[in-house]
Amino acid sequence: MAKSLFGWFNRRQAKPEFDCDDLKENCSDYVDSEMVNEELAKFESHMNDCPDCSTFVKTFRATVMTARDLPSRISAQDLKKRIQERIASEGNR
Ligand SMILES: [Zn+2]
Repeated sequence: MAKSLFGWFNRRQAKPEFDCDDLKENCSDYVDSEMVNEELAKFESHMNDCPDCSTFVKTFRATVMTARDLPSRISAQDLKKRIQERIASEGNR
C-alpha cells in the first residue's frame, strides 16, 4: 500500500512519460523551434505514435503560420526573439 503510493508519487514527480497534455503544452515551443534536443526527441516520438497529437501539431502549425502571414502583427514570441537577438549581438561586441 505504502509502496504503491510512493510509486504513484514518484510518477507524479518525475513524469517519465511524455503524454498528450505535455505535447499540447509544448506545442508552441516546437513550432517555434525553441525546443532542446531531449524534449524534441520525446515530442517527436510521441507525435509519431499518436495520430491525435500528430493532427494537433499540424493544425497548430497551420494556425501559427496563418497568424504570422498577417501584416502589421508582431506576436509576443517574435518580439521576445528580436529582443533576445539584440541582447545576444550586443553581448558579442
Ligand atoms: Zn498524444
